[in-house]
Amino acid sequence: MKASIINMGCKVNQIESTAMLEMLKTEGYELSAPKDVDLVVLNTCAVTGKAESEAISILRRLRRHNPGAKVIGVGCLAQINPDRLRGLCDLVLGQSQKSTLPELLSMPSGTTLVSPTAEPVGDLGDPKPWRTRALHKIQDGCDSYCAYCAVPFARGPSRSSALERVISGLEAYLNMGEKEVVLTGIHLGLWGRDLEPRLDLSTLLNETDRVLGPKLTDMRVRLSSLEPLEVPSIIDALLEYDWLVPHVHTPIQSGSDVILARMGRPYTKEQVTCLIANLKILMPYINIGTDILVGFPGETDNDFQETLELTEKLPFGYLHVFPFSPRPGTKASILNEQISPDIKRARVSKLKKLDAIKRAEFLAPQIGNFREAIIENTPHRSGRLKVLTDNYIPALLQPDSKATPGEMVVIQLGQPQNPYGLAEAYL
Ligand code: SF4
Repeated sequence: MKASIINMGCKVNQIESTAMLEMLKTEGYELSAPKDVDLVVLNTCAVTGKAESEAISILRRLRRHNPGAKVIGVGCLAQINPDRLRGLCDLVLGQSQKSTLPELLSMPSGTTLVSPTAEPVGDLGDPKPWRTRALHKIQDGCDSYCAYCAVPFARGPSRSSALERVISGLEAYLNMGEKEVVLTGIHLGLWGRDLEPRLDLSTLLNETDRVLGPKLTDMRVRLSSLEPLEVPSIIDALLEYDWLVPHVHTPIQSGSDVILARMGRPYTKEQVTCLIANLKILMPYINIGTDILVGFPGETDNDFQETLELTEKLPFGYLHVFPFSPRPGTKASILNEQISPDIKRARVSKLKKLDAIKRAEFLAPQIGNFREAIIENTPHRSGRLKVLTDNYIPALLQPDSKATPGEMVVIQLGQPQNPYGLAEAYL
């Protein structure tokens, strides 16, 4: 029997797809590309309207090209809007059902099994290598209910892996020879708050250093996205521990206090300004990336201008820009003053141009510097080996470089002279 899993969305979904693959292998399935398989699992994402439309078109294609396969829709979209998937899948399974997938495969076609509240996803976060860097899921769910976001409905409240389990997971990766591990969660900064006794990320990082610090010379640790008000708790660790890379991704979403309040984001433009400026003063080579959500209901030209000016002014190394799309069940989906698609497109385009400028500005003072980097497993489309530095700069190795994918090396950063706009890297 052959099976395939198609993954959509965030790093946590990637980890859970890998875990479902392992379960299917244990059941005797041979893993294969989606063509000519007996079973296909689509691990869906519901974070944007675009992700939802993509899931539907993938399912339609699967039905057309592989009519004999059993098709299963799981994950966030299945959890919050199972009706959208029902006619296109043999089984629709919610978030909690991922951890018992093999037991559910024999259910009759047409079954929908979605728990009313998304429960913890069992042991889907066990150490398993993934691509160039390992993803270590240590937290799931979110309690914040930002006005635009369906994630708390899809994944339920925050739950954390126990401290000992996180550290033993890191040690397992170290013993496997992994060079980089990304500590990942849906709302990572909430890690530890539901544990007894209550803990936080700074305790986790300090304990990691106490237990594993001397052994962490060949492996580095990266943190996935952290909410702006949660970044200060890790600054001491960033300054102190060499194994923690100088990279922070923190989604500010808007530069307008009016819009931030409407989004239910618990910070102001002033707080973001202080945080980002201070972090950069403390660590000049840190790469600070952000997400911006464009076209939230009621976002005026003036609000957008404030976002543009704030992102121009602050030393971000890159921007991820997303147009707002109403997600069913969220507060923002029923707000008046929805922004027209044309206005959203124009605003996204302005910020994408700014993203290119921010990347170039971040790289410029570092040209000629030496930085630690990992050779990516997948080469760049030009055929050259791609590296990612500790501070999150993607670069291309010289064509004749002798290096092995997965290896940690020290490179010298050069100019972005190639047609891809990426920095040149010299071994
Ligand atoms: S913090 Fe807000 S945006 Fe992030 S997952 Fe939670 S509700 Fe969604």
